[in-house]
Amino acid sequence: MPLYAYRCGSAGFTCADFEVQLAMGSAPASLPCPSCGAPARRRFTVPNLSRASSTAYQLIESTQRSASDPAVVRSPGPMSGTRPAGNITTNPLHRKLPRPD
Ligand SMILES: [Zn+2]
Repeated sequence: MPLYAYRCGSAGFTCADFEVQLAMGSAPASLPCPSCGAPARRRFTVPNLSRASSTAYQLIESTQRSASDPAVVRSPGPMSGTRPAGNITTNPLHRKLPRPD
């Protein structure tokens, strides 16, 4: 999710800018300042979307997502623990591999 920057407009230089992580497109035009409560206007900045390559960013996103909402496996698959009967592979080259006796 992108970071949105806000700047408090009431107290001038006493309040620091702050950033809020919000869903894309859901940032309001102003938020209450965490320091003084006055409305802080949104600063329009370059979106922090392309800091990393898309592959690296997908990894970061999936890591953050798995921290808050892990993909839990509730039950093992139907084939777990048992070997399927018959030949698994149909590749003819695999017939030349050594077999346990
Ligand atoms: Zn403030």
